[in-house]
Amino acid sequence: MKLFVPALLSMTTFASLPAFSQKLKNADKTAITAIQSHVNYLADDKLQGRRAGTPGEQLAADYITRQFTAIGLAPRGENGFLQPFSIDDGKEYGESSFLFIDGHEIPKDQFFVHPLSPEKAVEEMPSIALKEAGMPWFLDLAEEKQLNSGNPHFDLDADIISKAKAAAARGATGLIVFNDSEYVFNGKQKGETLPIPVLYVGKKTSDAYFADETTPVEIKFKTAFREKQRTGNNVIGYIDNGAPLTIVIGAHYDHLGYGEDGNSLMRTGAPQIHNGADDNASGTAALIELARMIKAKKDKSKAANYLFIAFSGEELGLFGSKYFVEHPTVPLNSIHYMINMDMVGRLNPTTRGITIGGYGTSPAWEKSMEGLPAGKFLAVKYDSSGTGPSDHTSFYRKDIPVLFFFTGTHADYHKPSDDADKLNAEGEYRIVQFIYQLIQHTPNTGKLAFLKTREQSTGTSTRFSVTLGIMPDYAYAGNGVHVDGVSEGRPAEKAGIQTGDVITRLGDFATPSVEEYMKALGKFKKGDKTTVTYKRGETEHEATVEF
Ligand SMILES: [Zn+2]
Repeated sequence: MKLFVPALLSMTTFASLPAFSQKLKNADKTAITAIQSHVNYLADDKLQGRRAGTPGEQLAADYITRQFTAIGLAPRGENGFLQPFSIDDGKEYGESSFLFIDGHEIPKDQFFVHPLSPEKAVEEMPSIALKEAGMPWFLDLAEEKQLNSGNPHFDLDADIISKAKAAAARGATGLIVFNDSEYVFNGKQKGETLPIPVLYVGKKTSDAYFADETTPVEIKFKTAFREKQRTGNNVIGYIDNGAPLTIVIGAHYDHLGYGEDGNSLMRTGAPQIHNGADDNASGTAALIELARMIKAKKDKSKAANYLFIAFSGEELGLFGSKYFVEHPTVPLNSIHYMINMDMVGRLNPTTRGITIGGYGTSPAWEKSMEGLPAGKFLAVKYDSSGTGPSDHTSFYRKDIPVLFFFTGTHADYHKPSDDADKLNAEGEYRIVQFIYQLIQHTPNTGKLAFLKTREQSTGTSTRFSVTLGIMPDYAYAGNGVHVDGVSEGRPAEKAGIQTGDVITRLGDFATPSVEEYMKALGKFKKGDKTTVTYKRGETEHEATVEF
């Protein structure tokens, strides 16, 4: 889950809250112990941070499947309880690319192929100093940086791309870049294919072979890529009461692994396991215990079915929930409403503050939450927006009323220190009780009315200080940034950009992906004016925006 700032409507002040331990029956204590043990297992180092598409995720999926089975849920995935979906992991050059210099094969860790390179084979005898047509050319990156040291907006990769294009226009058959240890391979980089291959050669190799710029060197290389895919799995269990309406209860169970996808907030040191006890082993534990309570429910009113979904791929950009709403295993129009729990394990024992998002997505919510017994143990704050950095957003976008439960961010968020021993299991149980009571209290006599709400502003991340006020679609595979939502009164809305548009340029900067878009945002400051180029359908548009 990404950080966000909810608009708050305070309901209860904590001073008047009754003591927690009040009225805890044995059944309650059993549930609290169960919650803690689910989190202990899911956040154990053995699961290596449950990164989507890894063995650690698989261990977690097996655990949830065992729990769902023991509770008596029916499988409602595409493969038993599982609903697999593929994750585009970019490309890799390792297997089929090679480089020989003066007949010596260069080890794979001493060169890489720029991800936008075309697949080509070249064999020539160029001199580094000469820029001859029909030959590969060379570019010293340390010199390049030196030459541009006065330019605060200098972007090494963009410079390499423009140099490659210029060299190709003058007949070069490749561009070999060297002499900069910070330049790394990014298999997820997207954009136009370059006219010629670009290879980066490591310092050890360039020192060994490129020292004498006048003597020709024998260069032989082949550039080829393999698409890297991972498969994530949603885990889906069902209570089929044969009813027309289905209530969806969800929580993501994936987390960051060792932070390989660049979403860790730990900026220093060797990669470590991000255990994700609160994010979101806690929500997964709540999901399992809610399934147990609902399955055990005495009143067998068959007024609704219940679908329990443990999503994967949430940390990558809501991949699992987006996949589900595009490939629903129950008819989407039979979904009554969706309840999402993401980080419900760190209720502050003093303030008891919990935020409930989505309050504005149905007029029915106010009544549903009135006078719930468990509510008296909690200081509930509401956020009306149906969107936010978690899986309920995927359902809201399908005009389904949603609620989102969140006990707030903390110092361990997206760090290896988000561990099971910091869980407030009793506090979490009170939230589970609240949700259970809310479900009992919400009528099943007809689909809940849906209301559109304002788009949640995504807040400003550390790397840029201004935004357009759009919700980027992280799962979009095309070229450009697909707009998932537009915030009111922000630059994008003022410029006429709409949901569904694809942004391809910001000023001078191409935005082939969300990453490049965020890099481009970093080039602007408050008050700056620039142009934004976007596609609506096949038509390209340009508008002026002011940050
Ligand atoms: Zn999360």
